[in-house]
Amino acid sequence: MQHPIYKIVILSRNRSLYSTKRLVEAIENKGHEAVILDHLKCDIVIEQDKPSIYYKGERVKNVDAVIPRIGASVTFYGAAVVRQFEMMNVPTAVESQALVRSRDKLRSLQILARADIGMPKTVFTNYSKEVKKIIDSVGGAPLIVKLLEGTQGYGVVLAPTKKAAESIIEAFHSMKARVIVQEFIEEAKGADLRAFVIDNKVVGAMKRQGKEGEFRSNLHQGGTGTLIKLTKEERKVALTAAKAMGLSIAGVDMLQSERGPLVLEVNSSPGLEGIEKTTNKDIATEVINFVVKRIEQSKRRKSKKYNSDV
Ligand code: ADP
Ligand code: MG
Repeated sequence: MQHPIYKIVILSRNRSLYSTKRLVEAIENKGHEAVILDHLKCDIVIEQDKPSIYYKGERVKNVDAVIPRIGASVTFYGAAVVRQFEMMNVPTAVESQALVRSRDKLRSLQILARADIGMPKTVFTNYSKEVKKIIDSVGGAPLIVKLLEGTQGYGVVLAPTKKAAESIIEAFHSMKARVIVQEFIEEAKGADLRAFVIDNKVVGAMKRQGKEGEFRSNLHQGGTGTLIKLTKEERKVALTAAKAMGLSIAGVDMLQSERGPLVLEVNSSPGLEGIEKTTNKDIATEVINFVVKRIEQSKRRKSKKYNSDV
C-alpha cells in the first residue's frame, strides 16, 4: 500500500542552516513534501471563521504540519504565525504558547521551580537599589549576571567579586536592561549537559565543555561537545523540564552540581548540528517521525469528529 504524502512546512529564515537542511532531507527521505517558509514573509489574515496565511501573495494551503525554527529575535512575529497555523487546525511541532514561554528566562525558571526541578538560586528584581542584598541572597560572589533575553552565551557574565558584581548589575540597570542574578555553580567546571528530548524520550545527550578559561559551554563560544550517557536522575530531570514547559521537542540544558542536576534553560528550537555530530544519530528523522505521528493523531481526531457529526 502506498503511504500518504504529507506536506510539512518548516518555518525558517534561512534554508542553508544545518538544522533546516537536515529536516528537509529527513522529510524527503520519508517520501513527504518539505516546504520552507520564512515566517517574516508570511502575512496573517484574520477574518471571522476563516483564518489564513499568505506567503508572497499566495494563500498557503493543504499544510499537514508545521515545524517552527524561530530565532529568538523574531519570537513575537514567529509565534503569531505559528498561532495562525494552530487556528487553521494544523498540528505544530512546538505550540505557540510554549514557544513564547520558553523564550522568557524568568518565566521559564518560575515554571520549572513549580515543577520542583533543581536550578541555580536566582534573583530577579525591578531595578532594585538594594544591589548588595541581591548579591548576598544568591550566596555572594562569584556570581552570574544574565540578560533576560540573551542566547548563545551572549549576555551571560561572571562577576568574580562582590565589587565587580555590584558594578555589573548597576551598569545593566542603568541601561534599563533586565537581568537575573544567579548563584555561580563552580563545580560544573565550565561544562553543561544538553539533553535532546522528543515526545517524552531523551533521543540524544552530550556534554559541552567551554574552551580553556571560559565558564560558558555554548558551542557558539567555542565549546566542544562530547557524547555522554545521562544518569537516571539527569534523564528524569530533562523529561520533567520539557513536560513542565509544554514542549514535545526540547533541548534541556543542565549543570552537574553537588546537589544533582540543575536546569539552566529549556530550548524550544534546539539546534541539530551539535547533537547529531556528537552522537552520530539521525535526530532529524526522529523529529519527523514525531511530526508524522502528530499528523496521524490529528487526522484520526478529525475523522472521528466528522463521523460523530453525521
Ligand atoms: P544562553 O541562553 O545565552 O545560552 P545560559 O543560561 O544557557 O544562557 O548560559 C550560558 C552558559 O553559561 C551555560 O551553558 C553554562 O555553561 C554557563 N552558565 C550559565 N549559568 C551558569 C551558572 N549559574 N553557573 C555556572 N555556569 C553557568
Ligand atoms: Mg544556553
